[in-house]
Amino acid sequence: MVLAAPASIAVVGGGVAGFSAVRELRRRGYAGALTLVDPAGLPYDRPPLSKAFLAGSLDRLRLQLAPEQWYEDNGITVLADTVDKLDAGNGTEAPVLALASGRDLAADVVLLATGARARRLPLPGMDLPGVFTLRSADDALALQGHLASGAHLVILGAGLVGAEVAGTARGLGAGVTLVDPAELPFAQAVGPAMAGYLQSLHAAHGTEYGRGAAAGITSDGNVLRVELADGSRLSGTAVLVAAGSEPETALAEAAGLAVDAGLLVDASGRTSHPRIFAAGDSSRRLGPDGAPGRRFEHWDAARRTGEAAAAGMLGAEPPAGTADWFWSDRYGVHLEVAGSMAVPGQTVLRGEPGSGFMVFRLDLNGALAGAAAVDGGTAVRAARKLIESGRILDPVLLQDPAVDLRRLARAKP
Ligand SMILES: Cc1cc2nc3c(=O)[nH]c(=O)nc-3n(C[C@H](O)[C@H](O)[C@H](O)COP(=O)(O)OP(=O)(O)OC[C@H]3O[C@@H](n4cnc5c(N)ncnc54)[C@H](O)[C@@H]3O)c2cc1C
Repeated sequence: MVLAAPASIAVVGGGVAGFSAVRELRRRGYAGALTLVDPAGLPYDRPPLSKAFLAGSLDRLRLQLAPEQWYEDNGITVLADTVDKLDAGNGTEAPVLALASGRDLAADVVLLATGARARRLPLPGMDLPGVFTLRSADDALALQGHLASGAHLVILGAGLVGAEVAGTARGLGAGVTLVDPAELPFAQAVGPAMAGYLQSLHAAHGTEYGRGAAAGITSDGNVLRVELADGSRLSGTAVLVAAGSEPETALAEAAGLAVDAGLLVDASGRTSHPRIFAAGDSSRRLGPDGAPGRRFEHWDAARRTGEAAAAGMLGAEPPAGTADWFWSDRYGVHLEVAGSMAVPGQTVLRGEPGSGFMVFRLDLNGALAGAAAVDGGTAVRAARKLIESGRILDPVLLQDPAVDLRRLARAKP
């Protein structure tokens, strides 16, 4: 069933996916009632939580994705509340959201943009004071108080968030020990050559780096001790568990929607229920063969899927898909990555590790599948177009820093 013009839409979650959906609904001329529910109230952005906001150089107001006036101007009701239960109904009547405040909210169509939560490790000591995870602005503020000069932060997990916090904490003068069970963390996302360069930044900036899996955390007054599986011990004044994220799918599961390590959706964001859509980190798109694809956990994927769901809720075609893209900042180094660096094929390097360094991944046919660059946003934008074109590319051209990727992207195949 397609509801071409629902009289009312409710969005659960005020991250970039929920925000992008309400903005796109109004951009497309949707004039019905539009309500967004999030415990934090006005939608805010998460990438600065491990960067400028954690460093104290960006305040809470500037985290917001739009000022309060924008919601008023666009007739969007924002409720600072939590959805405790979703009564999906059988598809003929409007679903009902039960809010923690006691109020019920019925809407013709519901978008679940509930995001993800930081993964907790099943460790003794996970709940000790001084042990943190990082997903919300409140989490960042709590952690910030433990990053002054003289503090020592132990970070468990050297993925995007762990590595960025290491850089921010060093910038604030705190000592940092970073541990990860993987030999080369982040290699799946950026390829081994780029991951090796990024890992070298830790030592260059005074972050102690080690391989290991945490087995437990104990507290000894003001000092926290992390025991690793090999019996060795690390100590610090605070511990950040940065072990990735888990999709927030509890509402959907309780309502009987199809969930498999993420809320399963089609290209328009429609779930297994005709009146319920999903977008962002909580969702996972089914491919044309019906098999679930990867669950993306990047800002741009959340924005794009939010916009696609807005089109879907109005019965319109979703915008054409684009190659995945994300960025990361640590120790003053800006990384951008497009496409996939993990497909079988060939790696091509351009330049030397450092600013301007670029790594390409060609698939087995010789088409560009992925590109990662340090301080090379323009080149990655061009590479993204080349990835989307599916063109077969000569590795000799890619590895030559004198070849302008923008011209290559514009050139006729
Ligand atoms: C510290 C950090 C740094 C990051 N840095 C980068 C980066 O540099 N580059 C990049 O590409 N990506 C980065 N990301 C990832 C990016 O921020 C996420 O992919 C993006 O925030 C996902 O948006 P979302 O709207 O799907 O989910 P979220 O941002 O998680 O928002 C979901 C919202 O739903 C709300 N919610 C959940 N359940 C309910 C409920 N029952 N009722 C009401 N509301 C509910 C939550 O409170 C939350 O506000 C970072 C993430 C973090 C945490």
